[in-house]
Amino acid sequence: MSDRAPATLLDGRALAARIEATLADEVRTFTAMFQRPPRLVVVLVGDMAASASYVKSKAAAAARVGIDAEVVRVPAATDTQALVALVQSIARDEQGPADGILVQLPLPAHVDTVAVLDAVPPDRDVDGFHPENAGLLSQGRARFIPCTAAGVQRVLLVAGIVTAGRHAVIIGRSDIVGKPLALLLSAKGPGGDATVTICHSRSADMPAITRQADILVAAVGRPGLVTADMVKPGAAVIDVGINRIAASDGTSRLVGDVDFDAVREIAGWITPVPGGVGPLTVAMLLANTALAAELRSRGG
Ligand code: NAP
Repeated sequence: MSDRAPATLLDGRALAARIEATLADEVRTFTAMFQRPPRLVVVLVGDMAASASYVKSKAAAAARVGIDAEVVRVPAATDTQALVALVQSIARDEQGPADGILVQLPLPAHVDTVAVLDAVPPDRDVDGFHPENAGLLSQGRARFIPCTAAGVQRVLLVAGIVTAGRHAVIIGRSDIVGKPLALLLSAKGPGGDATVTICHSRSADMPAITRQADILVAAVGRPGLVTADMVKPGAAVIDVGINRIAASDGTSRLVGDVDFDAVREIAGWITPVPGGVGPLTVAMLLANTALAAELRSRGG
C-alpha cells in the first residue's frame, strides 16, 4: 500500500460530452449553410456482437451532434471484391453524400482488409487508416488522425499532462493505435515533443522500460498486462485495451489492459475501462467526419 493519494481519474465520458457539444455547434452551422448535415457511412460486415455494438454507439453519437449516419450491413460471406465495389459505390455518393466512410474492423478472415481499407478515398477516410493519411501524419501535416490516437492525445492535453520532454512509453505497435500515437506524441508542438518508446510482444524486459514512463499507454488487448510494479509513481496511465471477461455466473464485463485497482494507487492519472479512451475515440470520429464534410464543401 502506498502513501500516495490514488490517481486522478480521467473521465473520458465527460470529456467526450464536451467535445460533442462543440461539434454540435459546428454541425449546426454546416447544416444551415449547405442545407444538409454532414454524413457518415459505416460498412458493417457480418454480425459480430462487439462490432455491432461499436457501430451502434458511433451512430448514436453521430445523431446526438446532428451528423447523419447510415449503417450499410452486408453478410459475413461477402468477398473482398464485392466489399471493394461497395466502398467504391458509396464513394461515388450513389446512396447520398458520403463525407466520411468507415469500414468497421475486424473484417472476416477471408477478406483482404488492406484492399478494402485502401478503397476508401483518402479525403473521406475518417478513420485515418489510408496510407496517404498515415503519410501525412508521419510528416507532421495530419489530415485525419486515427481516432483512438487522437483521443489519447486529447485527454492528455485537456488534463494538462505535460508531454514535452517527458518519456512516453506505448505498449502496442498497431497501425491503428500504437504507431499513430507514437507519431503524435513525438511530433513538434502542443500534446507532442515527448520522447517515445514503443514496446511490443518481442520487447525484452518490458517492466524496466515501462517503469521509466512519465506517460504509459497500454494498447494490447490483454487483461492485467500492466501491473503496479511496472508503473512509475505519479505517471499518467492511459488504458486503451478493451477485453471482455466472463464471470462464473455467466455474465461478462469489460476491462482494459491495466490492473486498474492496483495501478491507481501508484499512478498520478488513470483512465478507466469502460468510460476512458472508448468514448473519446467515438468523439474524434465525429470530429473527423465534421472535418471531412467541411474540407469537401471547400473543395479540398
Ligand atoms: P493489435 O493490432 O492486436 O495490436 C496489439 C499490439 O500489442 C501488437 O503490437 C502486439 O505486439 C502487442 N502485444 C501483444 N502481446 C503483448 C505483450 N505480451 N507484451 C507487449 N506487447 C504485446 O491491437 P489494436 O488494434 O492496436 O488494439 C489494442 C487494444 O486496444 C485491443 O484491446 C482493442 O480492443 C483496443 N482498442 C480500443 C479502442 C478504444 O476505442 N478504446 C480502439 C481501438 C482498439 P506485436 O506487434 O509484436 O504482435
